[in-house]
Amino acid sequence: MIIRSLLRSHLPRQTRSSPSHLLFRPMSSSLPFTRLRAETELAVHAVLRACALTKSVQNTLVVDDTITKPDKSPVTVADLSAQSLISLYLRKAYPTDPIIGEEDTTELRANTPLRERVVRLVNQYGEEAYTEEQVLEAIDAGSAEGGSQGRFWTIDPVDGTSGFIRKQQYAVCLALIVDGKVEMGVIGCPNISPTHAKLGEEIMPNGAGVVMVTVRGQGSYSRPITEDVYAKLELPASPPAGNPLTFLESVEAGHSAHSVQARIGALLGVTRPSLRMDSQAKYACLGRGEGGVYLRIPTKYVGGKEYQEKIWDHASGSLLIEESGGICTDMHGEPLDFSKGRTLNANEGIVAAGRDVHPKAVEAVKTAIAEAQSGKL
Ligand code: AMP
Ligand code: MG
Repeated sequence: MIIRSLLRSHLPRQTRSSPSHLLFRPMSSSLPFTRLRAETELAVHAVLRACALTKSVQNTLVVDDTITKPDKSPVTVADLSAQSLISLYLRKAYPTDPIIGEEDTTELRANTPLRERVVRLVNQYGEEAYTEEQVLEAIDAGSAEGGSQGRFWTIDPVDGTSGFIRKQQYAVCLALIVDGKVEMGVIGCPNISPTHAKLGEEIMPNGAGVVMVTVRGQGSYSRPITEDVYAKLELPASPPAGNPLTFLESVEAGHSAHSVQARIGALLGVTRPSLRMDSQAKYACLGRGEGGVYLRIPTKYVGGKEYQEKIWDHASGSLLIEESGGICTDMHGEPLDFSKGRTLNANEGIVAAGRDVHPKAVEAVKTAIAEAQSGKL
């Protein structure tokens, strides 16, 4: 019965029979946290709605749904609609909290068919009627600068847009940062199996998938999208016997240096091929003990361009790993610094792993980078 009502709450508004306000409260009633409860409840709810929206777009994605931003990265109606929807929820509950979101409305304001689709989707999956201007303003509200003081939210509405377009993995991510530290994070992974199936390859049907939730000092949990039941995540210090180490990395070769990562894997004694997966779904899988090491070595070490990691790509994921018992740092073993604005400009790359594996991985990074710099890779 509960499951049926939860399922119903993720259907588009027109197909529901009960008043929408009745569907809001029970959503996250069994949240296992005492700190930041109201914020977490709202964040889970907003991410669930955005998961339903994005999944519906992914199912029917056509070429016209995708545009290319000036920096050449892709953006879809799903990215824009999901950022608007999450931001509308945040602005209603916490009107003075600044928001850092990945998207803005530059392309949308110049493209009427795209804008109309976005406004329609936000109204379909939101629980109120929103005007076009409200939908656009909510996206542009994500332009905050962040920093070391006060609290702000960060949204990656569709993390891994390339995977989303390939109809593979992506994630809907929302985090709360207070005085430069990530305090709470949610990662919605609509295409990851709630029961560890074929890792990273499974594409779940509508309504399946998982949501991971973490609060500093209170652990990390996962729940199926369709069920309000939370299971604690535990990342073993090192992989259990009989389950050798595998590393997780981006699918996109332009996002991390696959050749350096392969060498790091070899130095760590990894014999299995890497698990390539888009988005913070990698953190989600690692957090529940799959794989063992997440590597993200900048491509500049193999001749690529300089790039600063964005806070929305790592806020939820890094806390999820720490709160499930692992360690998440930059590639030099330094803590990630979320107090520097919209980017992690004090850091380079990412290494995340269980407590015993992490120091070995950082050592292996040093060796592999030295080899890359002397032209050996
Ligand atoms: P992933 O699927 O883990 O590669 O993560 C996707 C994210 O990579 C996107 O949201 C982008 O913000 C980010 N990204 C884009 N370009 C780069 C780059 N050159 N290096 C690292 N990350 C990037
Ligand atoms: Mg992203």
